[in-house]
Amino acid sequence: MEDFRERFIMCCQSTFPCFRDPANNTSSGTEKRDIKVIVNEGAAKRANMTLPPTPVEKPGYVYVALYDYTARTEHDLSFNAGDKLEPLRKEEDWWYARGITGISANKEGYIPANYVAPIESLDAEPWYFPETKRLEAEKMLTSQKNKNGAFLIRNCESQQGELSLSVLDNGKVKHYKIRKLENGGYFVSKTRSFFTLRDLVEHYSRNEDGLCVCLAEPCKKTHGLSYNTVDHWEISRSSLKLLKKLGAGQFGEVFEGIWNDRTAVAVKTLKTGTMDPKDFLREAQIMKKLRHARLIQLYAVCTTEEPIYIITELMSHGSLQEYLQKDKGASLQMSDQIEMGAQVTSGMAYLELQNYIHRDLAARNVLVGDNNVCKVADFGLARMENENVYEAKEGTKFPVKWTAPEAIHENKFTIKSDVWSFGILLYEIVMFGQMPYPNMTNFQVVQQLPKGYRMPCPLNCPKYLYDIMSECWKDSPADRPTFETLQWKLEDFFDMDLKQSFDEQV
Ligand code: AMP
Repeated sequence: MEDFRERFIMCCQSTFPCFRDPANNTSSGTEKRDIKVIVNEGAAKRANMTLPPTPVEKPGYVYVALYDYTARTEHDLSFNAGDKLEPLRKEEDWWYARGITGISANKEGYIPANYVAPIESLDAEPWYFPETKRLEAEKMLTSQKNKNGAFLIRNCESQQGELSLSVLDNGKVKHYKIRKLENGGYFVSKTRSFFTLRDLVEHYSRNEDGLCVCLAEPCKKTHGLSYNTVDHWEISRSSLKLLKKLGAGQFGEVFEGIWNDRTAVAVKTLKTGTMDPKDFLREAQIMKKLRHARLIQLYAVCTTEEPIYIITELMSHGSLQEYLQKDKGASLQMSDQIEMGAQVTSGMAYLELQNYIHRDLAARNVLVGDNNVCKVADFGLARMENENVYEAKEGTKFPVKWTAPEAIHENKFTIKSDVWSFGILLYEIVMFGQMPYPNMTNFQVVQQLPKGYRMPCPLNCPKYLYDIMSECWKDSPADRPTFETLQWKLEDFFDMDLKQSFDEQV
């Protein structure tokens, strides 16, 4: 097979110069002409760029096609710019891949590696501050921590779906609109456009090219209550006022509070004598290491006397479970619910990348802010994955209806058992916070799952969504999708023909 492939590629490369690596294909005029034959000229012109180099190896990532490509033999795949593909085997310039969307959806074959790029994960970019408002951006950029050229990209307040670039220039902040091209791609100035925001940032980091100043460091993120608490987590108890009880957990209560009479916070308290403070503070230790727009952010701690406090960002609507139960569909539409699920997968995909497992993923442990913003919370049980598996101590209690069978029976917790729990969380979202497996006891669930029983598709749940739940509940953990896959599947939902999905109920 290998021999055949090599011969096949060599043959193609000698017969069709356009099969050669376009990035290296600049030495002769003939080769340049050949490139034009297969490049989606419209897209390339719009992006005003030469072909990019072969993308950096990122196994398991989903890639997007940058140009049209027409298969020349039965062994390679045709695709159009914008189609999504999953590389299954990456070998030098030709990858064996599976089409995910577009003309080669569900087909497998070879693709030229430099015709695709990894799909952007904006949440991971240090300059991406989606929820930051214009005034807030000005305040953050002008803080002493930032130097000239500091910048951030945020959602535009005045036009939904648009983005803005805010840059610090000589003590003042300038804002530029980032416009989107119809077929993907971005530009600040019409004269130059880019396939991705990352490309745009890279370009203006090297070259002013019309901006007030070259982009320098991304704006420092306020990973604390203020810049003083970024590295000094301990704050004085007297700087906090507890205003209203928000809820209670097994070992303490959660309050809405205010810090320095100015900043709204949530304060988690540890009831004296109920738990070793070291265990309680583990949660804060984990939160300190994990920073993502879809994870609850730790602000500070008060540990010098009891009761110990963990101070985090305040989420205006409390737990997702209560939020869903209160709403029951009054204002939330299916599109909002799917969007909420996608936000959870975004936070979990970050944990997956960091080799953390949550171990208690459920709607009660997701918090909701304004505009249905969802963030994963409750890292009390979270663990660093040790050789991909965490073994719970004997006698540990599980939230049975959310826990994967291998975690219940063999104490094996992995990111894939979190994926199982996410399937249950999706059910909770669709069913407005209803208890999963209604009319079944925990014992019945434990008995029935190994026999193949799974919750049926809820009424009004699109088939596409139920298929995702079912994937999460596959017997073998290895057969369940990754959070990264779940994220794009949910985000892709709106690219599909919604009506068809809604009609195809099971
Ligand atoms: P926990 O003990 O962490 O499960 O929290 C108990 C309850 O307090 C949750 O179900 C929420 O209703 C509320 N809560 C916890 N943390 C926050 C927060 N950061 N913002 C708003 N409400 C919170």
